[in-house]
Amino acid sequence: MPYDLHSSQWNLLIGGEHVPARSGRTFATVDPATERVIAHVAEAGAEDVDAAVASARKALDGPWGRMRGSERGACLFRLAELIERDQEPLIDLESMDAGKPVASIRRQDMPAVLDTLRYYAGFADKINGQVIPTHPDALTYTMREPIGVVGAIVPWNFPLMIGMWKIAPALACGCTVVLKPAELTPLTALRLGELALEAGLPPGVLNVVPGPGATAGAALVDHPDVDKVTFTGSPGVGRQILRGAAGNLKRVTLELGGKSANIIFPDADIEAAVRAAASGIFFNSGQVCSAGSRILVHEDIRAEVTERLAARAEAIRLGDPRDAATRMGPVVSEAQMTRVLDYIDVGRREGAELVTGGIRPTDRGYFVSPTVFGGVAHDMRISQEEIFGPVASVIGFRDEDEALRYANGTAYSLAAGVWSRDFPRLHRFIRGLKAGTVWANTFGPTDVRLPWGGARDSGFGREHGEVAIENFTEPKSVWISTCD
Ligand code: NAD
Repeated sequence: MPYDLHSSQWNLLIGGEHVPARSGRTFATVDPATERVIAHVAEAGAEDVDAAVASARKALDGPWGRMRGSERGACLFRLAELIERDQEPLIDLESMDAGKPVASIRRQDMPAVLDTLRYYAGFADKINGQVIPTHPDALTYTMREPIGVVGAIVPWNFPLMIGMWKIAPALACGCTVVLKPAELTPLTALRLGELALEAGLPPGVLNVVPGPGATAGAALVDHPDVDKVTFTGSPGVGRQILRGAAGNLKRVTLELGGKSANIIFPDADIEAAVRAAASGIFFNSGQVCSAGSRILVHEDIRAEVTERLAARAEAIRLGDPRDAATRMGPVVSEAQMTRVLDYIDVGRREGAELVTGGIRPTDRGYFVSPTVFGGVAHDMRISQEEIFGPVASVIGFRDEDEALRYANGTAYSLAAGVWSRDFPRLHRFIRGLKAGTVWANTFGPTDVRLPWGGARDSGFGREHGEVAIENFTEPKSVWISTCD
């Protein structure tokens, strides 16, 4: 029986069945805009993860493993149709669970979910090896085989979209998946698991086990029968995952945090740069790994840019995420709100100038007003540490060398932007910036066809594009003797 979208009791999805946790435990998930409990969700523990991994292994060795690539692709295209059919209830559910404005899920997340799924569905029958001639008396070639059972661990900022970044390529490659959504946002992942069954994916191909990271997540990472873990989340947990994965040397991809610089020179289109800088930090309440949280501005235009950025922050319509006119919702949880407000205090104490925002504007809901700090020094904590909230730091620079030194001067290396009309300068920055993605005269666009990921504390490996096909397959070299 499919879930009623407004049902208050949700079970795990293991082997195609809705099952309660073996322990009988549940946890509450809360609407961050109202602080209302919207559902009680079965809390997976190690035994449930074990059952999910066993059912994923059975599906891999059984119907899914025997399916032709074109049939797998057809299942994934059908899943895309079902997601499209149900997109409005899915958008509502995601908005309720994560506090994201429906308008931005409709404009950004949902199109990306469908594009990602269809892009990889198209790959399912095009995963080829190569004939590599070696000796005259041998036929030698490679083939790419599914890596096996994949544990996918995702965060709460883009639950469906980041979930799909992992599930779509894994399934296209013929892997089976145990998906552990973030405990703050488990609902759309469970619904996705049901739609996968309706689309004809055999039971066990996609299992969904919500639960805390320290128990359900760690059980998946430690499991000896999981072949790969693909993780998006914080650097601290990324390090724990590497340690846990060492047990059976499972493959790991880590997409971690960021503290991205957005560099504005005086010769840029200032209006466009400020507009993009505002959306670069305030979109999704700043809960974006590539948020442009460090706005590096040449001293000649620092005062003007700070003022215009503050005016944009003040004009953002903050409120009920279900209202189509709302542009910014709450942050995801009380803990996240407290963390962001604490960082705002740190900024004040460090001597940065609070230009606008910096408060919790309502008593109910985990809202933080869009905040701009001016006069931030490069080495302040608010310039170095990931806040993951709607807090912009404007940092002045005097020349290119200083801009590049500041831009590259954090522990992260995920994304960066640069604004100028001087092409040679743009190219110097494109080469010099330490980042997995560099935007020039724009900030923030991504596309599933382009590799995405970082280095250092931003993790390693790339998602998206053809590189994801390599992530979820293992090459096999074949040598056939052709002599009698
Ligand atoms: P988090 O690391 O706390 O949690 C992420 C996921 O890991 C959740 O599902 C959580 O339950 C699970 N988890 C926690 N502890 C675990 C453990 N010991 N073993 C296994 N799993 C565990 O991160 P978060 O607070 O949910 O998300 C915010 C972080 O994610 C930020 O640092 C942000 O920059 C990063 N992020 C990165 C990207 C990217 O593409 N690089 C995208 C979105 C978010």
